[in-house]
Amino acid sequence: MFFRTNLSVLIVFYIFGLSCQVTSHKVTPYVSNSSSETLPLSPKPKSFVEFQTIKVADWEASLAGLLDLDDPKAKSAGLKDRLEPIAIYFYVIKHPKYGSFMIDSGMGENFPKGEEGSRVSSIVESQMHFDKLKVYETTKAYLIKNKIDLKGVFFTHLHLDHTLGAYEIDRSVPFYVGPGEVTTRQFINLFVQGSTNRLLGENPNLVQLDFGKSESEIAVLDFFGDQSFYVLSVPGHTPGSLAFYIPAKEGAHLVLGDTCHTGWGWNENVTPGFFTTDRKLNRKSLDFLKGLGAKQNLKFVYPGHQERILISEKK
Ligand SMILES: [Zn+2]
Repeated sequence: MFFRTNLSVLIVFYIFGLSCQVTSHKVTPYVSNSSSETLPLSPKPKSFVEFQTIKVADWEASLAGLLDLDDPKAKSAGLKDRLEPIAIYFYVIKHPKYGSFMIDSGMGENFPKGEEGSRVSSIVESQMHFDKLKVYETTKAYLIKNKIDLKGVFFTHLHLDHTLGAYEIDRSVPFYVGPGEVTTRQFINLFVQGSTNRLLGENPNLVQLDFGKSESEIAVLDFFGDQSFYVLSVPGHTPGSLAFYIPAKEGAHLVLGDTCHTGWGWNENVTPGFFTTDRKLNRKSLDFLKGLGAKQNLKFVYPGHQERILISEKK
């Protein structure tokens, strides 16, 4: 998700053609030419990963940011802008051979209050309703408590609400982001770059996936090469937004990231609103994920900021 900035300030920056990357930290490319356009219809994993969801915090956000209220379905449902209850999650996957990975970074201790709160600039803080955060789990404490030796973090994208715990993670751990997520320049980043830099922490090991396709194309990568964990490049919400398809023992999990924030958005196939950068591409990517949901035998779908949806019960 994202926040609304003062329009006149935006216009001034836009006129002068100013823009920058979401973070000025150094990024290493990770090139893979083995991506495809679709998933195998029935993946047969050679090994299974364990998958877990961790609820980090309850929060609230503008419904007009979470959902396109101009969509005919939103209109006919009579949806109007208001604060919608949402949550922040991270996910843990454990691969029997390659170890433990996180999807998104949770939240640092004492955030946003206390000295860690200063990692976020006051303009960002004023827009993000941090006073509404009710935190249940912090990242470093969780990793220690569960004796997790982290081998990598995949970011669904680098919006601030997904990077709040990154600075607590060991500097050697690779932070994987989608194609173009760091290298795309956008003028909105002028407002968030400082905060994103501080949240990622000093010298993060940032790695930008390159699926060997144009950055606006949807692509699928069998990350471990054993059909156990698929990284899906679904641009639109941000340039390098990622989703994940995980055929686990108990059934397949589909992690949507913020390509779809809400349960209602998934069920009605309505894209996010003003939190999304490129609504047309977001539409294409959500259609791809909906199509995948119809073809693959899914057990759970995870909207970016609301409760998972149990698919098998609905059939
Ligand atoms: Zn978000």
